[in-house]
Amino acid sequence: MDTALAERLAAVDERIRDAARAAHRDPGEITRIVVTKFHPASLVTELHALGVRHVGENRQQELTAKRAELDGLADLTWHFIGQAQTNKARAVRAGADAVHSVDRSRIADALHAAGAEGDLLDVLVQVNLTDDPGRGGVVPDAVEELAAHVAGLSTLRLRGVMAVAPLDEEPARAFERLHRCADAVRSVVPDARWISAGMTGDFPEAIAMGATHLRIGSAITGPRPPRD
Ligand SMILES: *Cc1c(COP(=O)(O)O)cnc(C)c1O
Repeated sequence: MDTALAERLAAVDERIRDAARAAHRDPGEITRIVVTKFHPASLVTELHALGVRHVGENRQQELTAKRAELDGLADLTWHFIGQAQTNKARAVRAGADAVHSVDRSRIADALHAAGAEGDLLDVLVQVNLTDDPGRGGVVPDAVEELAAHVAGLSTLRLRGVMAVAPLDEEPARAFERLHRCADAVRSVVPDARWISAGMTGDFPEAIAMGATHLRIGSAITGPRPPRD
């Protein structure tokens, strides 16, 4: 067992509890997703042994491969947090328990089409909090319309919103905008309470702004190996 990994995980969890306490929130309502992208499946096995049950991947091929390799770890929840391509929707749906990156109606339609009636996939509307239209996510003004579209697809369960804070802005300000987008989604689906926000560099700010799902990579896993 990698004691450094266990120590980093414990240290992050302590910071999560501290930030929740400071925000007068119950840490029990916050899900810590460990982002394992670019790391081997063996790291996921080690994390599982340390009690981690939520992991995040941002590439479909890697998600599919790791999930197949770790078939025995049935109690893991796999979160897909990367750009989703419509032609990969079937594989994403097969590999993910939740998709955080629905940012256009076409990808929602493709994920819906890949599902069977009666089978529900948790999805979040990804919001672009930057001024760069090339970044993933729907612009805040279009969140409500996309949420309404997703809500009409019977094999998807709309859970809330997801975003990455811009690099050139105070994360707290950006997460405040995300909070308003979360309200817009809840005006469509009152039960859609998830706010997926907060990474290694900004998760305390995300907790202060109401994040329910943190996506933390390097603070727990250590530096990522170079991608191939
Ligand atoms: C990689 C990634 C993360 C985790 O990043 P860290 O800075 O390593 O914590 C979170 N969210 C998304 C969408 C990512 O791609």
